[in-house]
Amino acid sequence: MFAQVAIEQVPDTLFTYRVPEEMTVSVGQRVSVPWQRIMRSGYVISLSESSPYQPVKRPASPQETLFELPETSATIKCISAVDDPLPYFSETTIRLLRWLADYYSAGFTLALRSALPAPVRAGRTRERELFMVTPVHPLPKGLPKLTARQQHLYTEILRIDGGRLTHVCEELGTTPATVRKLAANGYLRCERVAVARSPLKGRVVMPSSPLPLTASQQSALAMILAAQKPVLLFGVTGSGKTEVYMQAIAKTLAEGRDAIMLVPEIALTPQTVSRFASRFGKTVAVLHSALSDGERHDEWHRIRRGEARVVVGPRSAVFAPVRQLGLMIVDEEHDNGYKQDESPRYSARDVAVVRAKMEGARCLLGSATPSLESWRNAVELDKYQLVRMPERVGGSVLPAVTVLDMGQAAAPGEPVPIFSPPLIDAMRSRLERGEQIILFLNRRGYAPTYQCARCQTAAICTKCSVKMTYHMKDDTLRCHLCGAWQRPPARCPSCGSPEFSRLGFGTQRVEAALHKILPSARIIRMDADSTSHRHSHDELLSAFRAKEADILLGTQMIAKGLDFPNVTLVGILAADRSLDITYDFRAAERTFQLIAQVSGRAGRGTLPGEVVVQTFQPDHPAIRLAAACDYETFAAEELANRRAEECPPYQKLACITFTGNDLASVTSAARTAEKRFRACRGLTVIPAMPAPLEKKEEAWRWQLLLRAPSSKAIAAACDHLLPKKERLSESLRILVDIDAVFLG
Ligand code: ADP
Ligand code: ZN
Ligand code: ZN
Repeated sequence: MFAQVAIEQVPDTLFTYRVPEEMTVSVGQRVSVPWQRIMRSGYVISLSESSPYQPVKRPASPQETLFELPETSATIKCISAVDDPLPYFSETTIRLLRWLADYYSAGFTLALRSALPAPVRAGRTRERELFMVTPVHPLPKGLPKLTARQQHLYTEILRIDGGRLTHVCEELGTTPATVRKLAANGYLRCERVAVARSPLKGRVVMPSSPLPLTASQQSALAMILAAQKPVLLFGVTGSGKTEVYMQAIAKTLAEGRDAIMLVPEIALTPQTVSRFASRFGKTVAVLHSALSDGERHDEWHRIRRGEARVVVGPRSAVFAPVRQLGLMIVDEEHDNGYKQDESPRYSARDVAVVRAKMEGARCLLGSATPSLESWRNAVELDKYQLVRMPERVGGSVLPAVTVLDMGQAAAPGEPVPIFSPPLIDAMRSRLERGEQIILFLNRRGYAPTYQCARCQTAAICTKCSVKMTYHMKDDTLRCHLCGAWQRPPARCPSCGSPEFSRLGFGTQRVEAALHKILPSARIIRMDADSTSHRHSHDELLSAFRAKEADILLGTQMIAKGLDFPNVTLVGILAADRSLDITYDFRAAERTFQLIAQVSGRAGRGTLPGEVVVQTFQPDHPAIRLAAACDYETFAAEELANRRAEECPPYQKLACITFTGNDLASVTSAARTAEKRFRACRGLTVIPAMPAPLEKKEEAWRWQLLLRAPSSKAIAAACDHLLPKKERLSESLRILVDIDAVFLG
């Protein structure tokens, strides 16, 4: 018997090992193998009776490249040991990973790597032992006398009722040695306990039971359970999608099968987790990158052993090793965070659909603003079944949306203020009533554009009608769709004003301005800078929930999934910012999503909500239709644009980035590739050009965009035409991004 083994540290090849007579090996197991004189861990990918060693010269199909063998000698080494009899991967997961590697033009071992959390790969399989401190109380007579400081510490430990040694030390600002001294004196017990590390530990979770469903929830659930294809659940914010998810999960569990629910990383808040924990108890596992390594390790193994049967997690949870997948849910399926940002650059939503199909599981994609890809799959191609939930639970209406034209907010020649007067009035009245406010600043517009301060006309590519991006490096405006470039004009091409320049303000400036206008308001600012600490995201939100602040000011980070009943006003400060992602044909879609999602934050409780949108482009369809909560009209119009412009979802798009320290070799690699792709029929090649982010950490970056009717065709062309890694110089890297989302 022979086994093909993937060794993590050797990404591009699979290796063949002999299975010793006395050993039983099965597919998916983790094994130890000798590799270049070192013992390595690997995973058994397939087994065969005869040696697959054949002098394969040219792989006939892309699949076979996986099995290209590096050695030609017939001396095949033996597997040394099976690390764990319980497989890490099922055969279907391996099939899924093969599909993934092919589809995204990445190595199989890389694909396999992305399916395992790092602490699992690191292989710490024992559950951690912790020291728990328990105060002895009441104290027996005759214990040695304590110093005043020791006495104080003992009282404090009594007050917090002990806990984990490390926590006690942290909380009381003391050292383990000091605590142990108290234990030695008989005042405490300090014992070693084996505990599975659980992200829910220490949280009080009240059990909850299923709510009686509304009529539209009921019919949605029935359709989901009966569907023969993936379901796109199009439900406005607050329509009760989560309750439907939970009841679909309960049904799946009752059938003896398991469920995975993907949520955007940012929406994986303690509230979401508690909601699931309170319904499903210990059978929920959470996979979250903010967990400690130990917690992630233990959660993953709990799933693998079948102890946890409901998995909630961000994109990588799509690979969770549940025993028998019965339901795959992707909440907020339009979310860009589902796209993995390193190789293989998979879309977890798309992998979810493929996995569900392979395992015969139900698949449910939910959103209030579906991606146009999914929308088209539902309404044009009939690949998905569309299920609508158009009303909010409890009859609360969607908030009234007011669009304010910032072009009118200042007299000609005056600078435009950050806040328009109606928004300031609205904020004042909320503060007086003790209601809360969310202010949202779309910061996605980091890619600088040129815009006229007087008439708001932006620099636009004459060929593509998208905004151009400014490149500081060579002082050019470039179109990231066709590659055209020009010098930034000195005057506005539309009105001739000399105030034609780069624009922008950030959350910190907004915060400063708020302090001036509303000195008494308590403000929480949330952005990448203020939330770098592991828990600060949760802590800031909890503080806001506890009404410790009046205003929550933040970037897209606050746009999703939060449910604050006391928020009655949402202000969107620069609604057109995302329209500024010039090189991005998805700009309008993102703007629509942001406004709709952010608006969904207002009026969630019994109080009515109001949304104020500040913009320079009040007539832009994305803004106008988002304000009118008219997704379907927007989707129809935008799909028509995409079709006309031959953009996704009608054409598939891939982005190949060439990066390295030597600009000449980066440029020449990009240009050579461009020439080779041009010879490919059915492929539209956009000229190689500097990436919007042209230099990153000393490395130059060039981009080549490819369009074709199918992503498989693009991936196949990449496999064929791009130089193999071995042929590249050390410093040059080529990154393939199929179905690219971020074109930075
Ligand atoms: P969505 O996920 O669509 O935004 P949620 O599932 O968060 O909506 O539901 C919005 C609110 O309505 C939540 O507070 C939820 O507890 C409540 N809710 C959902 N379904 C019901 C129901 N059938 N009966 C009563 N309340 C419900
Ligand atoms: Zn152009
Ligand atoms: Zn102008």
